[in-house]
Amino acid sequence: MKDENCIFCKIANGEIPSATLYEDEDFRVILDLGPATKGHALILPKEHYANLYEIDEEVAAKAFKLAKKMVTELTEVLGCDGYNVVQNNGAAAGQTVFHFHMHLIPRYKNDDAGFGWKTGKLTDVDRDDILERLKK
Ligand code: AMP
Ligand code: ZN
Repeated sequence: MKDENCIFCKIANGEIPSATLYEDEDFRVILDLGPATKGHALILPKEHYANLYEIDEEVAAKAFKLAKKMVTELTEVLGCDGYNVVQNNGAAAGQTVFHFHMHLIPRYKNDDAGFGWKTGKLTDVDRDDILERLKK
């Protein structure tokens, strides 16, 4: 299914031009227009799924396989030193375009991309609470 109001549906399906690094029957991989570092790319499924909650399992599995292929090739091409693979779900998590996508962000020694999170400390209460809730 496509969503006619979705910009990533239009890009993924070639209705809006993009800097395409790779394309197959299920996906298009494009350069992000607001890159965190040189070579920041996005994997876009051609079908519309808002996020990880909604994506078809098979498509999700294929997307991760494709991430491995792209990261491997691009590491060689770009000469980067590492990669962040990031995937945001929901506005609270920083998602701004509500069509599932994976960010492939090359990292270079001493780059100043500077994203991450402040680490806390796992408390016994949180650990027990989560383990208890997950019990079937
Ligand atoms: P997210 O915050 O995970 O939803 O990421 C959306 C990403 O899409 C951002 O990194 C934007 O820079 C990027 N983006 C938005 N519009 C376009 C576009 N038309 N072409 C390429 N990248 C885009
Ligand atoms: Zn879409």
